[in-house]
Amino acid sequence: MRIGTPPRKTECSGKKGLSRRDLLTGVAAFASAALSAPALSQGAAGRVVVVGGGFAGTTCARFIRRIDPRIAVTLIEASPIFVACPLSNAVIAGLRELQAQQFGWDKVAGDGVVLARAPATGVDAQSRFVTLSDNARIAYDRLVLAPGIDINWEGLPGYTEAASERMPHAWKAGDQTLLLRRQLEAMDDGGIVVMSAPANPFRCPPGPYERASLIAYYLKTKKPKSKLIVLDAKDAFSKQRLFQNAWKELYPGILEWVPLSSGGKVTSVDVANMTLVTDFGNHKASVANVIPPQKAGRIATLAGAADRTGWCPVDPVTFESKQQPNIHVIGDAAIMGAMPKSAFSANAQAKVCAAAVAKVLGGKTPEQPKLINTCYSLVAPDYGISIAGVYHAADGQLKEIEGSAGVSPLDAPSATREMEARLANGWFKTITAEVFG
Ligand SMILES: Cc1cc2nc3c(=O)[nH]c(=O)nc-3n(C[C@H](O)[C@H](O)[C@H](O)COP(=O)(O)OP(=O)(O)OC[C@H]3O[C@@H](n4cnc5c(N)ncnc54)[C@H](O)[C@@H]3O)c2cc1C
Repeated sequence: MRIGTPPRKTECSGKKGLSRRDLLTGVAAFASAALSAPALSQGAAGRVVVVGGGFAGTTCARFIRRIDPRIAVTLIEASPIFVACPLSNAVIAGLRELQAQQFGWDKVAGDGVVLARAPATGVDAQSRFVTLSDNARIAYDRLVLAPGIDINWEGLPGYTEAASERMPHAWKAGDQTLLLRRQLEAMDDGGIVVMSAPANPFRCPPGPYERASLIAYYLKTKKPKSKLIVLDAKDAFSKQRLFQNAWKELYPGILEWVPLSSGGKVTSVDVANMTLVTDFGNHKASVANVIPPQKAGRIATLAGAADRTGWCPVDPVTFESKQQPNIHVIGDAAIMGAMPKSAFSANAQAKVCAAAVAKVLGGKTPEQPKLINTCYSLVAPDYGISIAGVYHAADGQLKEIEGSAGVSPLDAPSATREMEARLANGWFKTITAEVFG
């Protein structure tokens, strides 16, 4: 088993140090050691509770059981169904149905994971138990929090939960995804779509730009007199040159990106007038997609694991909270240094955390991890690009290993872009099959 699917078709920087092959071999070696040795160790029993059954939490719960079946694992999940965000931008553009994003937890019982289907409403870190919405208490020796993100409703004046019904964020997949799609479908040809992208950090750094690309694709093919304006609180973003080259080629006159330095930062929204406000002027929208500031899921704050940034600082080897002993935080809710908030990362972190928790419960020292992330983005249905990196623990955080990072080539032929679009779809099938299948 692997910590992550090795990145493909990426460029190495050519800097001296470990080669990509060395790094990936190291990662694979760590993974196989982590997943075989503890299964045989004695005394590694205990009770683990995992809150949040997304990419991070479900993976972690299942892998702890596979590493040491003597450990009792309870997975707490609030939603009746999981709706995956990766590829949800394609749903917004009408290229895919929401059903293809939906998954359940029927298979986790096969690994001996006990499922508690209710929101976790509190954590007593002193007495070590989690409270559910029905007041039931579940005791733990180790708690893993994997609640993903919450929208920071205080982060953008005028943007409230009610406002998101008119100006959807669609940054948690589900009803919001369909709402944005329907608004685009209902818009007259000639309408103006205005999107806003937040400052770092936020869930899925390339996500807003993939979304901009696929909305532009929708407009080009279905409403060619329309236009998309992307207001950005940043001057730089993930895979920027690849995206911008593709936009020039595919969407000239349709997609306009306004960076921070040109007045892109949205400072408030006026929902009644469908207007996004910046220091440089107002933008009236036919359809507004506001991607607001975010923070760790609320249970992380209730557990005392989130700091003043709203995110959870963790030890990069065990993912144990730097604020609360015996509580680990993985996935989007955690501050992971250089490692981006992605489903790929969440899945990789979950496996490392599972191995670390099993070691700690067995009284052993966790190994130093190496983790891979790869993020694919669709610029059009048959045009994919990617970014990849390998990370290790250094100076109390996860740092990118020098020379490990790479993006798709800038001047690739269309066959390469088509192949990367297929890889994006293939990656989604593989990861969701591993997590929920
Ligand atoms: C538009 C978009 C596109 C994206 N594309 C990609 C991509 O191409 N590749 C990629 O790798 N990543 C992508 N991502 C990012 C990816 O979706 C997230 O990084 C990933 O979902 C994080 O996993 P997680 O387990 O931390 O959180 P989630 O997957 O959100 O899971 C959190 C779970 O916790 C549950 N929960 C929360 N609080 C509680 C509670 N108190 N009690 C019980 N349950 C609780 C929730 O119901 C949820 O099921 C994209 C994101 C967006 C928005």
